[in-house]
Amino acid sequence: MTIVRGVHILEAPCCGQRYVFPRYVSLNFSAFEYWTDGWREGSLMPNDEGLRHCQCGRFIRVAEMLQLGSAEDSNLPSMQHVKNGLLPQCIAHASDEKMEVAARRSYWLHLNHAYREIYRKHRDAEDAETKNRWHADHPDRRNWWDKFRRRKPLEYRKPADSPFTYPAFEPTSEQILNMSRLSQMLHNWDQAGHEGHKLELAELYREQGRFEEALEMIQATNEKENPVTAPLIKRLINQRTTVPMRYRM
Ligand SMILES: [Zn+2]
Repeated sequence: MTIVRGVHILEAPCCGQRYVFPRYVSLNFSAFEYWTDGWREGSLMPNDEGLRHCQCGRFIRVAEMLQLGSAEDSNLPSMQHVKNGLLPQCIAHASDEKMEVAARRSYWLHLNHAYREIYRKHRDAEDAETKNRWHADHPDRRNWWDKFRRRKPLEYRKPADSPFTYPAFEPTSEQILNMSRLSQMLHNWDQAGHEGHKLELAELYREQGRFEEALEMIQATNEKENPVTAPLIKRLINQRTTVPMRYRM
């Protein structure tokens, strides 16, 4: 369960404006949809790269802000997230690499949303077809006596061998450019010994169709730390597919 108790007060280094941030005492990351690019849909803890937009107009990373302490409550404003439409501007004016990576990662997820919509519609339609076919194959044969005795009809369960297809992923030049730059930056960090970027790199390479690099990266990933995502991404690399994939936990 996500529990918030009181607020943190942080000061923006650009103009000295103070803001409140919720003080989480426990976090719940559960969501009803997970995606291989790291997007969580329906989560109580929304994806947050720590980017904020200060009242003075500057883009800030929360990690750069000055911690002033905590309080039960406060009248100070809370800080705006960077709106999706402003991400290109945030990328162009990023004050350092960390900000650029955070902004490009947000932009990557944002630009994949259009595909997510197409994917959901396609999957829903295919699953509805599977269900209709099943009902046609399993007509309700209860007679009036069965119904009188309140015998239930056979219950539908999606057959294990039902078709599973997905629409092609055709990233725009904007998406390709952003993924290419983001993977370059993360690759440099990885080479410099910064841990924790291999899984994301594997996924970025895969979505760009750079399967050899993706394979190399996924093989270097710690599967114990990513018991669901790493094997899934590996399977998709071996299938030579570039689609962002939805999964459930
Ligand atoms: Zn400011």
